[in-house]
Amino acid sequence: MQKSEIKTTCSYCGVGCGIIVTNDPKNGVSVKGDVNHPVNKGMLCSKGMNLHYVVNDTSDRILYPEMRWSKSHPKERVSWDTALDRAAAVFSSIIKKHGPDSVGFYISGQCLTEEYYLVNKLVKGFLKTNNIDTNSRLCMSSAVAGYKKTFGEDSVPIAYDDIELADTFLITGANPAWCHPILFRRIEQHKEKNSKVKIIVIDPRRTDSAIAADLHLQIVPGTDIILYHALGKRLIEKGYADNDFIKNHTENFNLYKDLVMSSSLEKASKLCGISVNDIKLAADMIGKAKGFLSLWAMGLNQSAIGVDKNTALLNLSLLTGHVGKPGSGPFSLTGQPNAMGGREVGGMANLLAVHKELNNPVHRKEVADFWGIEDEISEKPGLTATEMFDALESGKMKAIWIICTNPLVSLPDSRRVEKALANAKFVVVQDISHNADTSKFADLLLPAAGWLEKEGTMTNSERRISYLPKGINAPGEALSDVEILTRFAKKMNFSGFNFNTPEDVYKEYCLMTKNTTIDISFLNYNRLKNEGTFQWPVPDYGHPGTPRLFADKKFYTPSQKAIFNIPTAIENTSEQPNNQFPYILTTGRIRDQWHTMTKTGKVSRLMTHIPSPVLEINPIDAYKASINNGNIVVVTSKNGTVRVKAKVSDTIREGVLFLPMHWGKQLENDLNRTNNLTNTLVDPVSKEPDFKYTTVSVSKY
Ligand code: SF4
Repeated sequence: MQKSEIKTTCSYCGVGCGIIVTNDPKNGVSVKGDVNHPVNKGMLCSKGMNLHYVVNDTSDRILYPEMRWSKSHPKERVSWDTALDRAAAVFSSIIKKHGPDSVGFYISGQCLTEEYYLVNKLVKGFLKTNNIDTNSRLCMSSAVAGYKKTFGEDSVPIAYDDIELADTFLITGANPAWCHPILFRRIEQHKEKNSKVKIIVIDPRRTDSAIAADLHLQIVPGTDIILYHALGKRLIEKGYADNDFIKNHTENFNLYKDLVMSSSLEKASKLCGISVNDIKLAADMIGKAKGFLSLWAMGLNQSAIGVDKNTALLNLSLLTGHVGKPGSGPFSLTGQPNAMGGREVGGMANLLAVHKELNNPVHRKEVADFWGIEDEISEKPGLTATEMFDALESGKMKAIWIICTNPLVSLPDSRRVEKALANAKFVVVQDISHNADTSKFADLLLPAAGWLEKEGTMTNSERRISYLPKGINAPGEALSDVEILTRFAKKMNFSGFNFNTPEDVYKEYCLMTKNTTIDISFLNYNRLKNEGTFQWPVPDYGHPGTPRLFADKKFYTPSQKAIFNIPTAIENTSEQPNNQFPYILTTGRIRDQWHTMTKTGKVSRLMTHIPSPVLEINPIDAYKASINNGNIVVVTSKNGTVRVKAKVSDTIREGVLFLPMHWGKQLENDLNRTNNLTNTLVDPVSKEPDFKYTTVSVSKY
């Protein structure tokens, strides 16, 4: 075999950097940034530039299907036919006995669009349940709901090229310097060249993003809406509202104005822990901006009031008229590489493909007709991520099929997830790696092909669709997810799964988008291979794609106007600190690790940055608890315990603790698993968990 080179997209975060992969049969795979790619222009972050180690090291890979005939038997190697015959028999018999809602699928924002589409068709169209949800529920479901409430549909309006056109950046509840590094590098480069560019960061921690900012508002966790309203009030008072835009293109402004004008900067200052001067300074930076970009991520989304936080932030863009114009707009940073693709194909329990709504009978019929199914799609919303595991624990749900995600480490309250998986009658885990802790609970373990080992498409955070070619063969008997799901559908005797390749699946999906707001019916693999990436919609053959939505100021609401939303909750509804649990624990990512470390944890050079989990604690809190830097500490919540080293640092607010979410291996009696602690609250609308606010105690071990 000859050395070969292909162009593809990074498999980690939603930035979607272009990568050139060289496959040398002698030395394996190597990677470099694609200098011609519109997103990263040759740059890669530490995770991306070390991707080849993950691909070349196959020591952890699942190589063939493994199955146990009962919970008391060990797993043994079986053929694909035996594995999928059993899966079909068990799913059929459980559905026959307990109904379709007794089974569910839990999938991933790392699935390619074709896989996402196919499994949704299988579950919603043919298994007749809407119990299919994705780990994107943990990531951006609050942003989806916020966009829908404001713009009428889940639509990220900006393009990354707006970065170089903006002059004020409001980064709130995000640390892009570590979690979206290439985008942040573009912001830094823009600022280096333009002294007028201002960066505001709102975060209880002084992160690397905050260090690079002109203004860091070190907020008390949970008070974001209060701060956004204070900013809104100041913007109105100082005459920064865009009255033309508000009058002609929005609804509900008077209600919003009444609400924010009744707030007080002094009160906000006290509750948010930010000086009145800094609130005024931030409002001035926003108000004077010609291009204003707000960027946010999990700090807003992972909250019991996550949707309200989102709409309160979006209101600031409406108030200043910064939507649909160059350098402006509200920009939700997606965590996963194809979270956006999953949203497009209706990857969550309450959605249908192509932005159609499950609660709309016309939409359900349109989708059913397109799939050629006679019975209706169930109107009952499916169980969301955390609800599915509750249902397994209580016995309402009997079987779960988990694809490309590791809920034992990533879901809140890990002990409950353990109980749920132990209580399930049948667990299928379809993954690439034995390192995923969840695989220990599998009755059926299916080896999947990974990045580079299959073809398909992904959509990044700016709606940019890329084609990812297959560059190498998967090890052992691993198959692509499309192949596994198609074979299963055939074992179930479902019609409508005559797909031979992922391209066949993509053609069907593209056709389904026709005449919708995300129309890509004129896109295909050939165009993506020959012409490069496209931002949806791409509604005709010659269309170059759409960098920016709403340039015509027509939104997707019935009135075509954007909506100022009034939050149902202004103050945080999370459990508040008390004598027993006086601290607020917030969790998040670190620079060189990805999710539950099944991939980045294999790369020794990525382990050198932060080799083990540490608890960040403010010096005043550490002094009160007699904790010194490097001491082993015990952190306890009502759900569990974690034992880690302390890092005493004034980078974190007094009263707040931080733990990285990645670790979860069964080391030291699993006492390094952060989600042992996290609470089970979710936002009432988005059902996104409240990872950023758990009350805990801390003491020296
Ligand atoms: Fe990959 Fe994201 Fe890093 Fe780009 S910024 S190289 S997409 S992990």
